[in-house]
Amino acid sequence: VIEHGLPEHSVQTTCAYCGVGCSFRAEMQGDTVVRMVPDKEGGANEGHSCVKGRFAWGYATHQDRIYNPMIRERITDPWRAVSWPEAISYAAARLLAVQAKYGKGSIGGITSSRCTNEEVFVVQKMVRAAFGNNNVDTCARVCHSPTGYGLKQTFGTSAGTQDFASVDDSDVILLIGANPTDGHPVFGSRMKKRLRQGAKLIVMDPRRIDLVRSPHVNAQFHLQLRPGANVAAVNAMAHVIVTEGLVDEAFVTERCDLVEFDRWRNFIAETRNSPEETEALTGIPAADMRAAARLYATGGNGAIYYGLGVTEHSQGSTMVMGMANLAMATGNIGRRGVGVNPLRGQNNVQGSCDMGSFPHELAGYRHVSDDAVRQVFEEVWQAALDPEPGLRIPNMFDAAAEGTFMGLFVQGEDIAQSDPNTHHVTSALEAMECVIVQDLFLNETATFAHVFLPGTSFLEKDGTFTNAERRINRVRPAMAPKTGKAEWQVICDLVTAMGYSMRYDNAAQIMDEIARLTPTFRGVSFEKLDRLGSLQWPCDDAVPLGTPLMHVDGFIRGKGRFMITEFVATEERTSRYFPLILTTGRILSHYNVGAQTRRTANVAWHPEDMLEIHPHDAEERGVRDGDLISLASRVGGTTLRARISDRMPQGVVYTTFHHPVTGANVVTTEHSDWATNCPEYKVTAVQVTRSNQP
Ligand code: SF4
Repeated sequence: VIEHGLPEHSVQTTCAYCGVGCSFRAEMQGDTVVRMVPDKEGGANEGHSCVKGRFAWGYATHQDRIYNPMIRERITDPWRAVSWPEAISYAAARLLAVQAKYGKGSIGGITSSRCTNEEVFVVQKMVRAAFGNNNVDTCARVCHSPTGYGLKQTFGTSAGTQDFASVDDSDVILLIGANPTDGHPVFGSRMKKRLRQGAKLIVMDPRRIDLVRSPHVNAQFHLQLRPGANVAAVNAMAHVIVTEGLVDEAFVTERCDLVEFDRWRNFIAETRNSPEETEALTGIPAADMRAAARLYATGGNGAIYYGLGVTEHSQGSTMVMGMANLAMATGNIGRRGVGVNPLRGQNNVQGSCDMGSFPHELAGYRHVSDDAVRQVFEEVWQAALDPEPGLRIPNMFDAAAEGTFMGLFVQGEDIAQSDPNTHHVTSALEAMECVIVQDLFLNETATFAHVFLPGTSFLEKDGTFTNAERRINRVRPAMAPKTGKAEWQVICDLVTAMGYSMRYDNAAQIMDEIARLTPTFRGVSFEKLDRLGSLQWPCDDAVPLGTPLMHVDGFIRGKGRFMITEFVATEERTSRYFPLILTTGRILSHYNVGAQTRRTANVAWHPEDMLEIHPHDAEERGVRDGDLISLASRVGGTTLRARISDRMPQGVVYTTFHHPVTGANVVTTEHSDWATNCPEYKVTAVQVTRSNQP
């Protein structure tokens, strides 16, 4: 404040980092942000914020921002700055040329969970209505796509069941594969407050996260399972509940499909699912597993919160269904303090999925093969839609290698750094004849691009983000787009140049179209959001003020459905040459691949990614704290510094992925979730050796 002077005006908006979706007041002096002040009225944060959100504006005006569109013939040519009209007509001609040469299905797009609902909606509309196929996917593919699948199968909709405030009434919190004090700090603090008030905590995680043991909070159980054993562990917990008579029979009888329940009960009661039989596999002492299961089932309101440690596995979807089974069996669904709650990584993961970014689903999670649904969209969009699902992101890369998918539009996502098996991704991008990147910076993916369309930061956007509790928050511009164009306008111009007419006067009109086409958004408009602050979907005529708690009187799908969750071991195995398991995560001061936080004051707190290694594993390799080490898997290798730590059990190492120079995804493999292809980032067999580099 001293440096910039006192603010002249302020703009109410939403943090663009994690899925908590904190509301802020951007205090401005002209076009300069003086400071970000968390909003006391903010539905998700009630006046709180974290170190990421408070310094978020730093990247928006960073010197690395690109404000001009740029084009080049080959990726080895230098970039040429051009006007918007030239960039648009060049991009359109290039996409059309690829389609003319390789067919209608040879191009597609990837939407970004960093962008607004309105920006995502127009990109998926571009692919379906203008490209004429369903080759659209979202970066949620690599994080929470198993949540979408698993919760839809069991409960009937792809969303968390509770609002954040619900945790205030939880008596037992089962936290699986999530580290909320680092990944979702404002909600992590709220959870911690509830724990300090006496709620019990069960942590199921290979890593000893801070919540296991921190001032005034001690987890009752740390079920320190081996990476890859999630499903065996959740089955063991359910086995105890079923065989010890802890099922909430009244809830199951009234609310669930009893045929499916009986089938599941018979499966889960088999001895092979018991804590004793699975102990060697999970690494969790059977006695702890039994006691933890009893606590969750009988300790009052039991709430499950989970993160990417659940989803980013070859059985991610199975694990999500396993947790839903647990909640239904114990009656922990449909009231405050309970539920199954994904902690979403990015600010708009929920929204990008809601907006129809999956190749098989139109907005509102309705299958593209449904003739009646497609007809509604066709009438509004005046375009014939393809009834066949399109390519998922990994399929796009495979098809590029085969020469059948040759043009890609990437919205605000650095796939060359964030997707697994970097070499495979970059080879695919290199093979394509038209790569268009819309982003703030020349990121790693832009290395392979032919067209760069400069994007806008959250401070320049007008629209909405939907957070992890389905809360639709307004994002308001604190300044005009520094690029001269809103991102949705760029998309409209691009498709118009391709021959499909798409026009909106403002972002509010896009939301009006979303509401018209999406039943769960039917009661949403900018006017209403501005009046009420925020709304949690479903929001329609029946519930005009939105829905904080889901499945209160019945499940969205009717009866809750128990799913068989057979454990299947990952194909990724340790060996003599790759004897350790690598797992990955985040740190408080950084956000995902760090494209934003590395360009803010946050970088000072965490200037490089490090590899946490157990003291015994380090000693065996002659590795000391701070040594440079080589990390190698079957697909690639990198170099980073070692941090000796007993947070991980022996045999397991851990790193973050915030810095491209270390590029942890050089070593992660292409194994993925059986149902959704979400990459198995959390289990990679590796070797660690002392590096010869100085
Ligand atoms: Fe809130 Fe997440 Fe932003 Fe932190 S990063 S201020 S917790 S939305």
